[in-house]
Amino acid sequence: MTTGIGAAAVVGGGIGGLTAGVALRRAGVDVTVHERAADLSRIQSGGGLMLWHNAVRALRHLGLEDRLTAIGHPIHTQEFRSWRGRRLASWPVGKLTERLGVGVFAVSRPELHRMLVGAVGEDLRLGARCDGVTFEDKGATARIGGDELRPDLLVGADGLRSAVRAALMPYEPPPRYVGYTAWQGVVPDPGVEPGVFVNIWGRGRRFVYYPLADGLVYWDAITSDKVARRMDSLGRSGGEIVREQFSGWPHPVPALIDATPPEDITPISIFDRDPVPRWSTDSVTLLGDAAHPMAFNLGQGGCQSIEDALVLAECVTEANSVSGSVKDALAAYERRRLARTTTIVRRSRTIGSLSRWDHPVSCEFREIFMRLTFERVVYRKSFDLITDTDF
Ligand SMILES: Cc1cc2nc3c(=O)[nH]c(=O)nc-3n(C[C@H](O)[C@H](O)[C@H](O)COP(=O)(O)OP(=O)(O)OC[C@H]3O[C@@H](n4cnc5c(N)ncnc54)[C@H](O)[C@@H]3O)c2cc1C
Repeated sequence: MTTGIGAAAVVGGGIGGLTAGVALRRAGVDVTVHERAADLSRIQSGGGLMLWHNAVRALRHLGLEDRLTAIGHPIHTQEFRSWRGRRLASWPVGKLTERLGVGVFAVSRPELHRMLVGAVGEDLRLGARCDGVTFEDKGATARIGGDELRPDLLVGADGLRSAVRAALMPYEPPPRYVGYTAWQGVVPDPGVEPGVFVNIWGRGRRFVYYPLADGLVYWDAITSDKVARRMDSLGRSGGEIVREQFSGWPHPVPALIDATPPEDITPISIFDRDPVPRWSTDSVTLLGDAAHPMAFNLGQGGCQSIEDALVLAECVTEANSVSGSVKDALAAYERRRLARTTTIVRRSRTIGSLSRWDHPVSCEFREIFMRLTFERVVYRKSFDLITDTDF
């Protein structure tokens, strides 16, 4: 193998950037992951994350599946229910797991992050913020942690408000608020069904929960922008609002909320961006939320960042074995990633719009629609899309 792409700098030590660090190192590249946080405890926070078949398959390719299974809780069923307790649809994730030979896991975000940090090891540089990128004829220069770096390959994995993306697309409008807010908690298991990911839909609000490893349960309450505005105007705390909004919802919703310290229930506004037709120059590219931020409705933002990392490394290996040109590697990477991530961003957006409906008649219609089509059409198509990877 030639070593045309010998050195890479990855900006951002989130799920995507750390996975890229592992993948590029395995591809024979001398890589450093530059994370702005000086203290890992500041970013090793948050609730749970679903890693679907596609992401687990990618982690298998990267030699990380065993570490994941040690920290994850295997999921075999995804259920949709109405806030009045009616079952709307159920998706047998376990059957797909058997067919594909790869599982689905619910993981604690801090645990996943710690696992990836361990895999990246000394290639992670903390307290290294990227303050901008300039482009010259001979390549790009990144200002990171007080240094000027000119790696063969610069990867922006620095999330929704990426500095690398801002340099590539200086006139782009800011991310788009999708109209809903998430509130989360991780609590001791009050007795939920193991292996079942539950998604409850109500009027203008949703509630999701699933078990994690170590006897914990993650929950996520989603409220529409109208609720958030009312909260602001009344000066109520997140805990009070979530309790009020989900009172009368079926067990275990109130129990999960009550078990969470109110001061820990803080809002996370959800954003995405319109997909773009390109996200690379000859030596600079993007990955994960920096490239294609999406609403969480398919649980794919993190999964896609993991796919990106693997595919980028495969394209680098391929280019190094032929020409060593970073331009070729990035062209191949975009070819493999753009259409897929664009579809997933759009589909996540559509499901989110459907979930915001709050008129009783529309919600009744939606429940009928979900009962009739979700299992056979909507989720089948979504799972086909998600599992149809090219690695
Ligand atoms: C409520 C909710 C639920 C979700 N559920 C799921 C799910 O079930 N499954 C799933 O796959 N996805 C889920 N997602 C999406 C997922 O969290 C994101 O898509 C994923 O974290 C993106 O990873 P990333 O590495 O691209 O970006 P980030 O996680 O945003 O990481 C970016 C990193 O870059 C660092 N950084 C930023 N700027 C700079 C800079 N200038 N210099 C250096 N470092 C910088 C940041 O500190 C951070 O560590 C969910 C999201 C939300 C909000």
